[in-house]
Amino acid sequence: MSNSISPVAVIGAGFSGTFTAIHLALRLPERQVILFEESGEAGPGLAYRRDDPHAVMNIPARRMSAYQDDPDHFYHYARRTLGDSVSPEDFLPRRVYGDYIKHCLDEALQQCPNLKVDYRGVVDVQTNTASSVAVLTLKDNSALMCSRVVLANGNQGSAFSGSIWAQHTLPARKASTFDQVKPGQTVLVIGTGLTMIDAVLELERQGNAKQIHAISRNGLVPQPHRNASLVQPPELDELPDSDLQRSVRLFRQAAARHAKDGGDWRDLFAALRPATPSLWEMSPHDRGRFLRHISPFWEVHRHQCAPATHVVFQGLVDSGKLDIRRGTIVSVENKDGRLRLGLAPRNRAAITRWLDADHIIDATGPARDITTVRHPLITNLLRRGFLVPDEHRLGAQIQADYRALQRNGYPLEWLYVTGPMLRARYFEATAIPELRLHTAALAARLAADLEPKVRLAAAV
Ligand SMILES: Cc1cc2nc3c(=O)[nH]c(=O)nc-3n(C[C@H](O)[C@H](O)[C@H](O)COP(=O)(O)OP(=O)(O)OC[C@H]3O[C@@H](n4cnc5c(N)ncnc54)[C@H](O)[C@@H]3O)c2cc1C
Repeated sequence: MSNSISPVAVIGAGFSGTFTAIHLALRLPERQVILFEESGEAGPGLAYRRDDPHAVMNIPARRMSAYQDDPDHFYHYARRTLGDSVSPEDFLPRRVYGDYIKHCLDEALQQCPNLKVDYRGVVDVQTNTASSVAVLTLKDNSALMCSRVVLANGNQGSAFSGSIWAQHTLPARKASTFDQVKPGQTVLVIGTGLTMIDAVLELERQGNAKQIHAISRNGLVPQPHRNASLVQPPELDELPDSDLQRSVRLFRQAAARHAKDGGDWRDLFAALRPATPSLWEMSPHDRGRFLRHISPFWEVHRHQCAPATHVVFQGLVDSGKLDIRRGTIVSVENKDGRLRLGLAPRNRAAITRWLDADHIIDATGPARDITTVRHPLITNLLRRGFLVPDEHRLGAQIQADYRALQRNGYPLEWLYVTGPMLRARYFEATAIPELRLHTAALAARLAADLEPKVRLAAAV
């Protein structure tokens, strides 16, 4: 089959894959684009599925448009479907966002006859060195030749899933986890980030847990979202100079000045957002230091939670029903159905504390190390050297045009990467405001690659 007529395969139909496929199908209406999704539901991905009906987004509606050049697109959709009472500042249910992605996909499917959704998982991709065409192996063992492949497999595994004690835990993302908690039971939650807050609120709604312990290495919890202050934040232009120590010092000084003027630290994090990719161009050594010492603080300040959610969460802490503990897990034992977890404090001289619980919920969030992802597709791509992790294994090494860099250091002609795997290059590639830029930019590059005629239209 010639390259000119082979389809483009987009693997994974969460936000990233769905919008890459939509942008691409609109740019190249003659080209077949196949969007593969193994969960049985295309659009919502892990974050916006319906199995978590009460969870709300952690960004207000006005900032959740899927299109950078149409900032009110989601807000208008929400008003059309939920009514005029929706305000741009509302933190809407995540399932509404899942419906929004599906709605955009349905519209594109009607508009672009060559865009298709295929509900089979992709388990492998092979090629031979002389060819620029890739062959996908699907879960039913059939094969499909493709001109280009976009990997948009998203958030997989969990940060704790590689642990030897993972067998004792229940996943926070599954509704069935919460059905297992019986009245009066004690629940231990691993992780103290946004996924923990979701889990704790779900336990509270369900009403059976008597005591909840949440643990993490640092015990830091997400901060609540707040509207920008009226005071203009200081300029941060001088920060992206790829010197970590200097950047941290300047950022702290700017935050202190802003607070003195009556501003809020959140404004600084908002101002820093567009500069994050250039800051991340620091040396591998500084990246390591950032990940070890600063990223736990960065995460809880940068990824804030909805104010109403935080009020409920804080109420549980204040009442003593939820306690947040800090330490490293050193053992988990199951003794006749009762679980006992050993927690070593930071101060190694102090003795290990023991926490007993009826259930342990893994709320550590998506895996932060791509080599721990157990999906056959990722295992195969890593094994074949088509995907190469960065030195901190946050994601896949790519070029600026989103092509994967293979083991020999050269870009692969046929493999593009998007979604959270872009963390390797940009660090922040998690939330919609970043991902919408990447989906549009990748589609423009890929369209220009396949049809040089459209190169001029690729406004990237
Ligand atoms: C719980 C949660 C809440 C969040 N809330 C917000 C928020 O409020 N605001 C915000 O801006 N961001 C939020 N985010 C971050 C962000 O929006 C998501 O991470 C983003 O949706 C990622 O989309 P994705 O398509 O890259 O990945 P995913 O959503 O993980 O989708 C990947 C899809 O690929 C499929 N797939 C994987 N491998 C294969 C394969 N081999 N074959 C076929 N299909 C495959 C999976 O089934 C999945 O559907 C949240 C993230 C999470 C996890």
